[in-house]
Amino acid sequence: MPVPSEFFKGACKRQLLRRHGIIIKIRKASILIVIVCESNLQTLPTCFLSTVECHLVELSTSVMELPLVYNPGYITPLPEGHRFPMRKFQQLYELLLADGIAHPEQFHTPKRPPQEWIELVHTHEYVQAYCEGTLEAKAQRRIGLPWSPALVNRTCTAVGGTILTAQLALSHGLACNTAGGTHHAFPSYGSGFCIFNDLAIAARVLQQLGLVRKILIVDLDVHQGDGTAFIFQNDSSVFTFSMHCEVNFPSTKQKSDLDVPLSAGMDDDAYLQTLAQYLPELLSNFQPDLVLYDAGVDPHVGDRLGKLALTDTGIFCREMQVLSTCVAGGYPVACVIGGGYADDLKGLVYRHSLLHRAANEIYSQYRL
Ligand SMILES: [Zn+2]
Repeated sequence: MPVPSEFFKGACKRQLLRRHGIIIKIRKASILIVIVCESNLQTLPTCFLSTVECHLVELSTSVMELPLVYNPGYITPLPEGHRFPMRKFQQLYELLLADGIAHPEQFHTPKRPPQEWIELVHTHEYVQAYCEGTLEAKAQRRIGLPWSPALVNRTCTAVGGTILTAQLALSHGLACNTAGGTHHAFPSYGSGFCIFNDLAIAARVLQQLGLVRKILIVDLDVHQGDGTAFIFQNDSSVFTFSMHCEVNFPSTKQKSDLDVPLSAGMDDDAYLQTLAQYLPELLSNFQPDLVLYDAGVDPHVGDRLGKLALTDTGIFCREMQVLSTCVAGGYPVACVIGGGYADDLKGLVYRHSLLHRAANEIYSQYRL
């Protein structure tokens, strides 16, 4: 007996199923039901039993682990001394493995998306000129990264990474990229190390594929998600929420659906309280099918560009707060790492890994 897809939609159904000791996962459009404890079958209502019998699948260990996304192509050489910390992506991958936060089988490898997907957000002229290396010098300077064919490949692969992370979040409830968060990219130009807007592209692609209708973008990078706000300014299906330092880049802010500007020097407690003031209500009012979370670590006190004063503990608490609030409400979350700038690369990479450490905890705590 086939299971109608509507049957499993919504947090309420998911919680009901969980109470009865089973976890559902939707993988590659097929419904997979994992029985945690077969004795609990006795307590299930008859309508559940018939579906369970039809879709009982062996539990494999890989199914139970947080999906992560990485591609060695996330790194491409920049000129010596360039201020963008390109090596952090590879070091983050290595740290997650070295610290036992992840093992190699947990990683999914993204591909370059078709150009038509990038053009769901960006103009054909911009995408073509960037990919061919024919952008004007001024437009190139605004991006702040020296053009190379390898960087084109890196940029597109990272976009593919966020799309894949979003797809994995839908099927597993939670997923994390090890790059992404290029929120300063506008439809026809790039800015502030951002070339194509991965968050916006992932949102549009998933909508186009009919996988989601409403998306909430939670952007906690210390800089305003100006490109994302601009792209979705007239689109009520994507809600943009940006909490950022008010006296930081970009000097001209765009209008997100909800902007929460923060004073310079804000510490852990004030930051976490502010977040708690907005996020739960936002989720229950908007009820997104998917949350895209930009977990930039540049609000950290040690960040070269941030101007806020969060500690490692504060960043970890923030990730736990965001992920538990979303997951407890039944909202799938796709995470990207966002910005983070420091001369101490080791410290910076550790800060980024706090997202994956928190996600691991939430993933097992909620038995996703
Ligand atoms: Zn930033």
